[in-house]
Amino acid sequence: MNPIQQPQIDALRALLGDARVLTKAIDTLPYGFDGTAALSAEAGCVVFPTTTAEVAACLRIATDARVPVVTRGSGTGLSGGSVPVAGGMVLCLNQMDRVLELDAANLTIRVEPGVITQKIDELAAEQGLFYPPDPGSQKISTIGGNVAENSGGLRGLKYGVTRDYVMGLRVVLADGEVAWLGSGCVKDVAGYSLRDLFIGSEGTLGVVTEVLLKLLPRPAARGTMTATFASMEAAAQAVSDIIAQRIVPCTMEFLDQTTLRCVENYARIGLPTDAAALLLLESDGSQSAVDEELAAVRRVLEASAALRVETAASEEDAQRLRTARRAAFSALARVRPTTILEDVTVPRSRLAEMVRHIGAVAERHALQIGVFGHMGDGNLHPTFLTDERDADEMHRVELALDAIVEKTLELGGTITGEHGVGLAKKRFLPQQFDDASFALLGRIKQTLDPQGLLNPGKIFDMAPAGQS
Ligand SMILES: Cc1cc2nc3c(=O)[nH]c(=O)nc-3n(C[C@H](O)[C@H](O)[C@H](O)COP(=O)(O)OP(=O)(O)OC[C@H]3O[C@@H](n4cnc5c(N)ncnc54)[C@H](O)[C@@H]3O)c2cc1C
Repeated sequence: MNPIQQPQIDALRALLGDARVLTKAIDTLPYGFDGTAALSAEAGCVVFPTTTAEVAACLRIATDARVPVVTRGSGTGLSGGSVPVAGGMVLCLNQMDRVLELDAANLTIRVEPGVITQKIDELAAEQGLFYPPDPGSQKISTIGGNVAENSGGLRGLKYGVTRDYVMGLRVVLADGEVAWLGSGCVKDVAGYSLRDLFIGSEGTLGVVTEVLLKLLPRPAARGTMTATFASMEAAAQAVSDIIAQRIVPCTMEFLDQTTLRCVENYARIGLPTDAAALLLLESDGSQSAVDEELAAVRRVLEASAALRVETAASEEDAQRLRTARRAAFSALARVRPTTILEDVTVPRSRLAEMVRHIGAVAERHALQIGVFGHMGDGNLHPTFLTDERDADEMHRVELALDAIVEKTLELGGTITGEHGVGLAKKRFLPQQFDDASFALLGRIKQTLDPQGLLNPGKIFDMAPAGQS
């Protein structure tokens, strides 16, 4: 691999014009990192194509000169996926943000990758339709980033993740070839599902330049409930109990006391900061279905160790609670200079055990760890409040992270539920895969990107040529 040189920069300028090719360090600096702590690199250039043809031409320029390419949406990723390769090209797609078609008759929307996630649901809502995936970052993340990370969200418990809504993808391959994967058909089993291979591939197999998404009818009603607990384990147990009763609400999110206090300090919305944990539950559907589901949830919660169960009195009240959950990361990030947000998922019946373990790890290593997350999905975000300038503390963070990942795998969980492997989780991936499946990853990468130029070093390292 080579750093980008003047001849390629000249070719990119001829293609895109000067304004869409950044090369000065002061201009490329903001594209040198994403939302992941302690990871950054200096790109050789940042380019802003606005069509599939331009993306293809940029990739051909890079491939011919063996320049590594990192695709980027909004850079909100939490595993280092869009951190550049030093001296390489960053292909930033946030200006490729047209909505191409909202087909209300077929319940689909076709968009370019730079469209902001929340805008898709807002446009759908105008037609009485619904795009469910709602990552906490939905106001800033792009749909291209969501597809590349297979992002989840607060409604994932009932509605699934980005993959469940992607019907078709236009992708540009490493050599500049353009392929359409999938179709507008509700059922389609023709050939291997290449579309699914690209969803969650973290920019390592190709560049997504168009996305066809499925929409649903918008639920008529929504209800919101909270419950407080004297311990995190009690909250985790209540979630396991709700699921065991075969109740699957739209949302079951939680905040621990550290997070509750930080959010309250930040947003001043009257949260119960004396509670050890707060559970936020939402139900949607017809009004009668919502009433029935929330009544069933209340019965389980009241039979559990919940201290207080409350139903939001108004939409304003519900909005306030949703905001509290969405503000969790930003609020925690204000406490110490470095915030390391982790992302592990365990089977829901093992939640209480996992939560207990995280508490014990924090104590053993004298670390401050706030925990929040999509508890209904078993997806926890232990968040280290730390300082990357303190080498001793960072060493303890590493040890704690190892212990959390080890326990996750022991409980049958996964090292990442939604943020991807990127750079941050790369060292753990071989522990989760067996030898045959890990080797298969490499063979797929080798087939689609033989020179290893697309987001190199993310997810896993490619074996040197000739080795498998
Ligand atoms: C406050 C906050 C809350 C968050 N909450 C959630 C959450 O609830 N659920 C969740 O899943 N994640 C969450 N995230 C993580 C992040 O927002 C998601 O991973 C999101 O999908 C990233 O989108 P992006 O546009 O910022 O992508 P980027 O960070 O720019 O890129 C992410 C990855 O996708 C690749 N990529 C981007 N665009 C393309 C493309 N068009 N083609 C191919 N590859 C591409 C990049 O190379 C990189 O590997 C959160 C992040 C923050 C900061």
